[in-house]
Amino acid sequence: MVVAEMKKLRVATTSLAGCFGCHMSLLDIDERLVPLLELIELDSSPLTDIKHCGPCDIGLVEGGLCNAENVHKLRELRANCKILVAVGACAINGGLPAQRNHLDIRDCLQTVYLTGLGVERGFIPNDPELPLPLKQVHPLHDVVKIDYFLPGCPPSADAIWQFLTDLIAGRTPHLGHGLIHYD
Ligand code: SF4
Repeated sequence: MVVAEMKKLRVATTSLAGCFGCHMSLLDIDERLVPLLELIELDSSPLTDIKHCGPCDIGLVEGGLCNAENVHKLRELRANCKILVAVGACAINGGLPAQRNHLDIRDCLQTVYLTGLGVERGFIPNDPELPLPLKQVHPLHDVVKIDYFLPGCPPSADAIWQFLTDLIAGRTPHLGHGLIHYD
């Protein structure tokens, strides 16, 4: 008798205003990637280079929201993913990029592109294809409903592994001692 193959869960990942460190931590689960890929298949992700997300079971989002394109991408994932996870400090509270929130965005642009150290004949980029920056950097839950928050900068590979295996097994993720940290 042929046993029907278990249907793999579809997982999308994206990096918004982040540094890819959370994705690197996902890859740091090392040899556990092999059993993981027997349970999931990747949809839209920097790891597959698929640009647009189809219907998915889980969406993992690294990075907060610093421009209009980030908001568009986040909404696309929310519309397509049954479970959406904010992965890492930037997704949860804006992280390092949010340090610009106490500054005026115009002052930031002027300093970086016009008056900063070493800038000569600078200009503020204005190509219409560039996404418009937001006045402030926002965490994901300011814009869409988030189902789970996985803290850390980045969350450790062990934390990501524990979190994903719980989720894939249909359990509420529970990170035991030593797996939750906020730095
Ligand atoms: S939480 Fe830390 S590791 Fe993850 S994207 Fe932000 S800065 Fe990078």
